[in-house]
Amino acid sequence: MNIRGVAAELAPFAKAGGLADMTRALPVEWQKFGHNPIVFLPKYQNIDVDYWGFRRTDKQINVPMNYWTEHGTLWEGKIPDTDVPVYLIENADYFDRYGIYGNPNEFEDNYRRFTFFSRAVFDAAFALDFKPDIIHAHDYHTALALAFLKSHYIHEERFKYTAGVYTIHNLAYQGKFAPEAVLPLINIPLDEYYSGSWFEHHGSVNLMKTGIMFADKITTVSPTYANEIKTEYYGEGLHDILRHRAADLIGILNGVYYEEWSPENDSNLKIKYDFHNLASKRINKTYFLEEKGVAKDDNPSLPLFGIVSRLAEQKGIDIMMGILEPLIAENKIRFALLGSGEQRYVDYFNYLAAKYPGRALIHIGYDNAQSHRLIAASDFLMMPSRFEPCGLTQMYALRYGTIPIVHQVGGLADTVFEYNYDEQQGNGFTFYHYSGSDFNYAISRALGIYMNEPHWTQIRQNAMKADYSATRTAAEYLKVFGWALEKVRGVNGIF
Ligand code: ADP
Repeated sequence: MNIRGVAAELAPFAKAGGLADMTRALPVEWQKFGHNPIVFLPKYQNIDVDYWGFRRTDKQINVPMNYWTEHGTLWEGKIPDTDVPVYLIENADYFDRYGIYGNPNEFEDNYRRFTFFSRAVFDAAFALDFKPDIIHAHDYHTALALAFLKSHYIHEERFKYTAGVYTIHNLAYQGKFAPEAVLPLINIPLDEYYSGSWFEHHGSVNLMKTGIMFADKITTVSPTYANEIKTEYYGEGLHDILRHRAADLIGILNGVYYEEWSPENDSNLKIKYDFHNLASKRINKTYFLEEKGVAKDDNPSLPLFGIVSRLAEQKGIDIMMGILEPLIAENKIRFALLGSGEQRYVDYFNYLAAKYPGRALIHIGYDNAQSHRLIAASDFLMMPSRFEPCGLTQMYALRYGTIPIVHQVGGLADTVFEYNYDEQQGNGFTFYHYSGSDFNYAISRALGIYMNEPHWTQIRQNAMKADYSATRTAAEYLKVFGWALEKVRGVNGIF
């Protein structure tokens, strides 16, 4: 299968969250299965093209926008350590600026940047003579690619039998824009047919809805989230639309790219470890504490509770703020955070750092190597997200023998299971009601198992044994691609 991926993020070149991890892991796996994926990404300013070995090609692409044409240049490279081709689309006006989506607020012309990118990949297919079986778009940024496929390119021989698959990584970010801004750019008239169309939702252009409606098949990143988003509570206003397309909506659990996220071959760690030598995990903790300036004799056996996260309301920081300080003040836990995001949260964590030196270890910023070290060093990982489409960090933690404490929601509910002392089964601690007190109770259960043998070893071994590899995820996507192709080719007469 020729699979063309189009997304706003791709690890390790441009990453803001889990989207980037998945847009890398999936094509790598598909190629191992013998398929032919290629991936497109905007040429953002912060991508170090020399370091990653990208080469500027002489291929120019012409992108129709409204009644004029805009231009881009293709750069060619590979996902590191693989043979998966990556094409960067260069356009200085749109992408030669700091940040993927904004800095710090969303860029005002994001609708235009991503319209350009979503359409550029069609001309790029001609330039590269690539005939896709599947166009795989991710989140609102590239949803328009599916609208273009079904409206503007459906009659082209190259795309006539191409199926469009849309993956929702997070329904909360919908891409709502003024119709007067978007519709002319994409050559769709703003007339009496606009209202109630696949572009419109409550008066605005809603690109998330556009992706959902134009896709042949829709996936989202965990089975539980696929069910949740059909309800009013989690549906972010689009639950009716998702119910309407329920027969084509499939939840596929994200997976881990274990080439990057395994403690036995993680070059970010001072000491590698695995299932059989948990003692070396402890050495990682010692190094980490030392690196953070914690004195050697400052209660080294305090359990370390870590978090690596965007600091956004979704991530449950509010309920965490309700309970965290007493746990630190009463010397029950040591806390380590790596994160960036909303200022009110940054201020709170800086306050903790100042008040509890050596006990609240706060790193505001984005740092991939640190994220590996923090997860390896921690005894527990906190993830009290209010909602969580899938979440990758808890799956990384499991692999590193770091016990997750999670709100039982979305992908967290599909991957973390409460430890049971009698059966000695389970890999973490979960709470059902989104409240500080329930979170606190889960933490107290976690504290009860810490160094309580044989359970402490058992739960960590259970965690490390869990296999959430991206290979399985990629295989499930291939099934969905097959169904999408059947649909298109049945209708268009190839079968
Ligand atoms: P989301 O996509 O909602 O942010 P996920 O758990 O799916 O949440 O993925 C987050 C990804 O981003 C993980 O790979 C995590 O390690 C990484 N990450 C989040 N914050 C940081 C940070 N401050 N520094 C480094 N990596 C981070």
